[in-house]
Amino acid sequence: PELEFNIPADDVPERVTLFADVILPLPLPKLFTYRIPHEMGDEVLVGARVLVQFGAKKVLSCVVARVHENPPKEYQAKYLLEVIDEKPVVTAPQLRLFNWMAEYYLCTLGEVINAALPSALKLSSESKIQLHPQFHQETNEWPLTAHEEKIIFALWQKPHLTFTEVGQLLQLTSFHKIIKSLLLKDIIIIYEEIAEKYAPKVVKKVRLAPMFTTDEATLEELFNQLAAKPKQLDVLLKYVQLVPLLQELAANEEGIEKNLLTSNPHLSLSAINTLLKNGVLEQFDRVVSRFPLAEGRGPYLATELSADQAAARDQVLDFFGEKDTVLLHGITGSGKTEVYIDLIQKAVDAGGQVLYLLPEIALTAQIVTRLKRVFGDRLGVYHSKFSDNERVEVWNGILSGRFQVVVGVRSSVFLPFHSLSLLIVDEEHEPSYKQHDPAPRYNAREVALMMAQFHSAKVLLGSATPSIESYYHCLSGRWGLVNLLVRYGEATLPTVELVDTRQESLRKNMLSHFSQRLVHDIEDTLHRKEQVILFQNRRGYAPFIDCNDCAWIPKCRNCAVSLSYHKFSNELRCHYCGYTERKPNDCPACGSTMLKTVGFGTEKIEDELKLLLPEARIQRMDLDTTKRKNSHQQIIEDFELQRTDILVGTQMVTKGLDFEHVSLVGILSADSIIHYPDFRAHERAYQLFVQVSGRAGRKGNKGKVLIQTANPNQPIFQRVIENDYQGLYEQEIAERQKFRYPPFVRMIRLTVKHPEARPCENAAILLAKDLVDRLGRTGVLGPEAPHIFKIRNQFLQEIHVKLDRESGNLKYSKSQIQEAVFHLLQNKDFKQLRVVVDVD
Ligand code: ADP
Ligand code: ZN
Ligand code: ZN
Repeated sequence: PELEFNIPADDVPERVTLFADVILPLPLPKLFTYRIPHEMGDEVLVGARVLVQFGAKKVLSCVVARVHENPPKEYQAKYLLEVIDEKPVVTAPQLRLFNWMAEYYLCTLGEVINAALPSALKLSSESKIQLHPQFHQETNEWPLTAHEEKIIFALWQKPHLTFTEVGQLLQLTSFHKIIKSLLLKDIIIIYEEIAEKYAPKVVKKVRLAPMFTTDEATLEELFNQLAAKPKQLDVLLKYVQLVPLLQELAANEEGIEKNLLTSNPHLSLSAINTLLKNGVLEQFDRVVSRFPLAEGRGPYLATELSADQAAARDQVLDFFGEKDTVLLHGITGSGKTEVYIDLIQKAVDAGGQVLYLLPEIALTAQIVTRLKRVFGDRLGVYHSKFSDNERVEVWNGILSGRFQVVVGVRSSVFLPFHSLSLLIVDEEHEPSYKQHDPAPRYNAREVALMMAQFHSAKVLLGSATPSIESYYHCLSGRWGLVNLLVRYGEATLPTVELVDTRQESLRKNMLSHFSQRLVHDIEDTLHRKEQVILFQNRRGYAPFIDCNDCAWIPKCRNCAVSLSYHKFSNELRCHYCGYTERKPNDCPACGSTMLKTVGFGTEKIEDELKLLLPEARIQRMDLDTTKRKNSHQQIIEDFELQRTDILVGTQMVTKGLDFEHVSLVGILSADSIIHYPDFRAHERAYQLFVQVSGRAGRKGNKGKVLIQTANPNQPIFQRVIENDYQGLYEQEIAERQKFRYPPFVRMIRLTVKHPEARPCENAAILLAKDLVDRLGRTGVLGPEAPHIFKIRNQFLQEIHVKLDRESGNLKYSKSQIQEAVFHLLQNKDFKQLRVVVDVD
């Protein structure tokens, strides 16, 4: 017989049948509706996870978005299989935010949920089953089918089977009924109790049995009894020493970790076991946090704000009286972080939660240290270098209220806050707040503004080089603007000087990629026992190699780019798809042995520097040296403690880092940064130069910045030298207005992808035509093949749509874009077509 959750006929008739709309973690355009079995009626809560069958093969965990009484019209609703959570794991404001993200960024709610939930909170076909711990073949009263027996037999051989393996074992594509039936008979369970892939960390502890801890007399008696058993006595003495239970009997509750005893070489393991066996000691498990208690907790260490900082803080608070968003324009080293901390403290004291966003993991270490001193264990940290278990612990800690302040990178906007009152977006201008792939292609800064609305919270954006858009919103009166334009304490801004590389190389004085000036100043700085940061916007050894004789250049086989040379691994690598091959010794085209490197990246800088300054201690920080979990932290700490002298790096070294002894910053090749084909290139270049310069001279000692360029007459350098943000803004905003770029319009980029060039182009032309029909001629640009026209074996064509910002029709226009894309994807001529929509 069909095994369904049959509702007995005599079940209470007046009970209404309930349905749940669930968000599946898949790119599906709609929510799916499942029927709630009556016996689960009250257990299904909005925001909690449930288990459903999807299609014939998949069992998935998903989040309940709505519970209602309307059966779906288009299909017969299946029953929910299981309720996973007794309490919601997603909060109401979160669900509203996710909905908004899907709508605004033109993606599906499933894609948002998929990005939001740590993978330990998701369950899929890769989930596993195991035998129910209480299942015994002999006492099983169910008749088993041959398929079921096969599964049970396999589970005896192997403790877990994934759903996929079950399918292979039975050679069936539809086998979920069988799994379901085994689940219902309590013969199997889904591995680790349904989707709880998240495993709390448990330590084995021992403690004195309660009868000995009531008073000192019983304990004394125990010692007397054991007088003749020196080994056991040793154990007890050690225990008493580690747990100060005579002073405070309650300390016994905590016990001590068993391995503290067993690892102690003086103690006998058998004595420990005897004490356990005789009931003097008892063993127990304790769930502990993966995040150890903060060191040096204790009273709040207040930093006294300077008069300028306090004035800035007061202005922010004043603005918050009338506006939801304030931008703090504070130059590098002005002490923005101190102002944030002061405001966070106020929000926390008032009982609110605070989210502090940072653009980059590299920055979290220093900020976390500063915040830990103030907020201790109420501070949670969230970023992608955390393990899944750690992420779930943070997730749950925010739900439970354990963490009141969270520091994290862009993905922290997904966390389950329930009483957020303040959001801080530090370095708000940073492009890394934007996620490009996969969907949702969101900008965490914009999402933070929306979160604030759903929570009735305030947002403080901070930057030394605000984005043109943000500054515009301030000047137009929408946001509050607070300036903090002096460095903290004695420190002043560094002096910026240009080095003309053409002149130097003309005089044949150019040593490698270092001008004489730069080498001289580095030596000088090291001589004074101060430190140097060198910035080069490219990783690897050289952007490419080429043959001196036939001009052959190695290209990626998947992408339309040349391969970068990485000397350490002796590889040629594609920075777009990760393809690598060994560097050939001879030219594969003509056999010449004259292969030379062209251009230079951080690896080459490090190499040359070692030759130029053999004594110097050099460390490199880029994507290649920071793959491991704590490598950022290590590099930064070494530099902080002056265990290294020179830090060479990509943009990672430009942002927000605070070092005391850096007095020289070198920018090795400024020109490639300025001439980047993007309407934000100038803004971006200015930000990079000012930010990296801002690392110099932060604590009293006057800093210096050297910029190497082949064209010192470019106006942007004057702006950097004079720290003229205002000038940059005025020029940029005029150009954006004239040529219709943000903030005056919203830009949406559609990228058409196809494995073949022709269909790609044809599809893009069709799409552009359709968009013109729907939106009018003026707002649609393209199609055009981008500079890198093939990535990962997909040809690319781009269309840009500009939508008037203030027209009330934004929603309508976006729905038109979505329809146009949908329409194109239905076209039978383009089977392997993909279209990526990127808003803003
Ligand atoms: P910003 O983020 O604006 O670049 P920071 O907040 O990192 O600046 O401050 C620069 C340096 O000055 C830091 O080392 C910080 O500890 C120190 N500092 C700033 N304000 C104060 C203050 N009020 N008291 C003590 N030190 C401060
Ligand atoms: Zn050649
Ligand atoms: Zn590639």
